[in-house]
Amino acid sequence: MSRSWTLGIESTAHTLSFGLVDAHGEPTAASSSTVSPDEGGIHPREAADHHKDAAQRLLAQLLEDNSLSPSDLGAVAYSQGPGLGPCLRVGAAIARGISSRLDIPLIGVNHCVAHIEIGRQQCGCTDPILLYVSGGNTQVIAHLDGRYRVLGETLDIGIGNMLDKFARAQGIPFPGGPVIEKLAKEWLAENDGASLEGLELPFAVRGMDLAFSGVMTAAQRLLDHGAELGAVCWSLQEHAFAACVEIAERALAHTGKSELLLGGGVACNNRLRQMCQLMAGEREATSHAPPRMYCIDNGSMIALLGMIELRHGRRTELSHSAVDQYLRTDQTPVTWPV
Ligand code: AMP
Ligand code: MG
Repeated sequence: MSRSWTLGIESTAHTLSFGLVDAHGEPTAASSSTVSPDEGGIHPREAADHHKDAAQRLLAQLLEDNSLSPSDLGAVAYSQGPGLGPCLRVGAAIARGISSRLDIPLIGVNHCVAHIEIGRQQCGCTDPILLYVSGGNTQVIAHLDGRYRVLGETLDIGIGNMLDKFARAQGIPFPGGPVIEKLAKEWLAENDGASLEGLELPFAVRGMDLAFSGVMTAAQRLLDHGAELGAVCWSLQEHAFAACVEIAERALAHTGKSELLLGGGVACNNRLRQMCQLMAGEREATSHAPPRMYCIDNGSMIALLGMIELRHGRRTELSHSAVDQYLRTDQTPVTWPV
């Protein structure tokens, strides 16, 4: 069916991803490429150059994989923020180009809200507390009075950045989170019934907020004093995840909601998923995590939110299509039913 598909472009940070949803909002597998620097962190301009170089190939691949042509696209959505300026601008420029070339509506969407909507769709949640744990973001979010409100968040770095930085200091390349998970699991399997004694780290909760840089420094200090890497990875996960679960539980208690939804790349972690299940089970709530391809940054979630917003009368005029690096989750009015 012609013009029934919405294209979504995700380019907030290290990943460039194109995704599609059909007229019912059903996503297809996205076409993505992620920068992985040989050393050091992500340099925004280098990531933007990667995105520019990869764009044409990824988009052609997506259309080919789904046996579609450009004339099948009815709208184009892109991440308008938050994220790294140079990376966001590449995605926005591609979206503007496609919109004017094909004469189809353009919709700039909020990346954080897109994580929530794909999670709600994939897990069948109605009104969850979202624990959004990604590279740059760590937030506990709830829908209240027409907005997704941030009830608590990191005061310094995102939990994923913390894991990646700690890993990088041990010579583990980006992304370090999955490697930390593997090392922790292997160490625990070899040290059945281990205790955290001697592996204590600061607990990163400040009221409803979190902080991670102190935990990271303390974990490094444990290593400097001779602790095994696997043991420290385990302790780091236990402490950092417990802090997230604690504020998520308090958000459930205070709002009276009964569903917890995980989102963001760190939500791929099995131990975090398990801790959320345990907490939810103890308070007769449910915990949900979308398939991993929708936890990491992906174009499908951008397409889905674009389609929803367009259905509810929103589109982005060229004059309002500039990116916003600091766009907040609660700046976006939620005009669709939750
Ligand atoms: P995002 O920013 O949402 O694209 O997610 C990327 C972040 O997720 C990076 O910081 C990764 O290290 C982290 N990540 C991915 N998989 C895992 C995992 N299994 N455990 C912990 N962190 C992970
Ligand atoms: Mg993200």
